[in-house]
Amino acid sequence: MAAYDFDLFTIGAGSGGVRASRMAGSFGAKVAVAEERYLGGTCVNVGCIPKKLLVYASEFGDGFSDAAGFGWEIGPRRHDWAKLIANKNREIERLNGVYRRLLTDAGVTIIEDRASLVDAHTVAIGGRKYSAKYILVATGSWPAVPKVPGAEHAITSNEAFFLEPRPARVIIVGGGYIAVEFAGIFHGMGTDVTLVHRGAKVLRGFDEDLRDTLGREMGKRGIALHLNSNVARIEKTDAGVRAHLDDGTALDADIIMYATGRTPNTRGLGLENAGVKVDDHGAIVVDTYSQTSVPSIYAVGDCTNRIMLTPVAIAEGRAVAETLFNGRPMSVEYAGVPSAVFSQPNLGTVGLTEDEARKRFDKIAVYKSSFRPLKHTLSGRDETTFMKLVVDEKTDRVLGCHMIGTDAGEIIQGLAIALKCNATKAQFDATIGIHPTAAEEFVTMRTAS
Ligand SMILES: Cc1cc2nc3c(=O)[nH]c(=O)nc-3n(C[C@H](O)[C@H](O)[C@H](O)COP(=O)(O)OP(=O)(O)OC[C@H]3O[C@@H](n4cnc5c(N)ncnc54)[C@H](O)[C@@H]3O)c2cc1C
Repeated sequence: MAAYDFDLFTIGAGSGGVRASRMAGSFGAKVAVAEERYLGGTCVNVGCIPKKLLVYASEFGDGFSDAAGFGWEIGPRRHDWAKLIANKNREIERLNGVYRRLLTDAGVTIIEDRASLVDAHTVAIGGRKYSAKYILVATGSWPAVPKVPGAEHAITSNEAFFLEPRPARVIIVGGGYIAVEFAGIFHGMGTDVTLVHRGAKVLRGFDEDLRDTLGREMGKRGIALHLNSNVARIEKTDAGVRAHLDDGTALDADIIMYATGRTPNTRGLGLENAGVKVDDHGAIVVDTYSQTSVPSIYAVGDCTNRIMLTPVAIAEGRAVAETLFNGRPMSVEYAGVPSAVFSQPNLGTVGLTEDEARKRFDKIAVYKSSFRPLKHTLSGRDETTFMKLVVDEKTDRVLGCHMIGTDAGEIIQGLAIALKCNATKAQFDATIGIHPTAAEEFVTMRTAS
């Protein structure tokens, strides 16, 4: 008789949990995964995928107005928001099915209910208990909304994906990537957008030049930025909501959306029953192999609050499966994780910001380029593309690449490989550009600023 019901019991079928479960199953382990809400987790249902679909929708407006400079005459335009949301929902349902198939094809048992920990080897779910040699907690994160009076009238990104009808006026609170992306989405669809942020610039943690450039570009597009401001209280009105800021300003809108960060989804999981340590933010404390303070329990993804991105959760999930079931102990390298912000224009970044590099290296060289993209010489759009390279003068190694402009994420992904290979500035310079592209600028910047 087997000692345990399962070799691995995963709690949460999101980016990290699905990858770990599938891979463990394909290595021959007997695996079960519990999911209380939606297969595929945040990324597929209320994160990366639906967000990018809405970003695409919002970019058509630019395309229509840019077309005039190229001789196109575009007639009256009408947008069917209900159709967009319905089509997006249909695609997400299709993806839910893909995730179900991926798991069942790998022999993984799916249990659709909320699970909690009973002890180091036992999970409770749906009135039953299951034992497992290993338990993987992959429960993700949840939007954090500050406790201001009237906060119950606010929505978060979770609800923003299902609004019906499209609001005419939106207040977005926050300055992180989700806030600026939704500002771009709503603004591109024709909504009046006001962004309220307690900091002096959007996108804390990104390179300062990118933060400045994006703030300017958002302003140029007509997104109202209320910086250095906090919402003190929210009032429900007949027309929607009124946000009272701490500087005395009152802002009216149909909807107020909070995008003020996410907290690890670890409450009520029974972590204390098993003795799993969490930090002050509720994040599960893990070592480099994602092992918790309890040797039979592992944790990956947002619930560990390392880097809250899908590819990171996936890499962590894979590493756990390799370590436990394929005899290949594996950990994830967190340096040089590239990321993009699907703002308008897009932003892409990999490696150290200029400020980080100055702190860690004796002497750095910074190369910058700022230009009007070729397309906009005819479209007439007043939009700047900005690129930046941060280089260690001693070794000539490129430490950071940063860009704001069309397809920045697509471009930076390629450069992330170069940085992984410790590419030098001389090697960037020796690379022949692709002409005419914006990306060629990364291999033609010759003069440090
Ligand atoms: C609006 C938005 C946009 C984003 N855009 C991007 C992007 O462009 N690129 C990017 O890389 N990342 C993006 N992210 C972040 C990305 O979605 C997350 O980093 C990623 O989904 C984390 O994966 P995970 O496996 O840790 O958790 P999740 O994918 O959140 O999965 C956790 C799963 O666990 C389930 N669960 C929780 N508790 C229990 C329980 N007790 N029992 C059973 N099931 C449970 C949940 O229902 C959920 O399905 C975005 C996030 C948001 C909110």
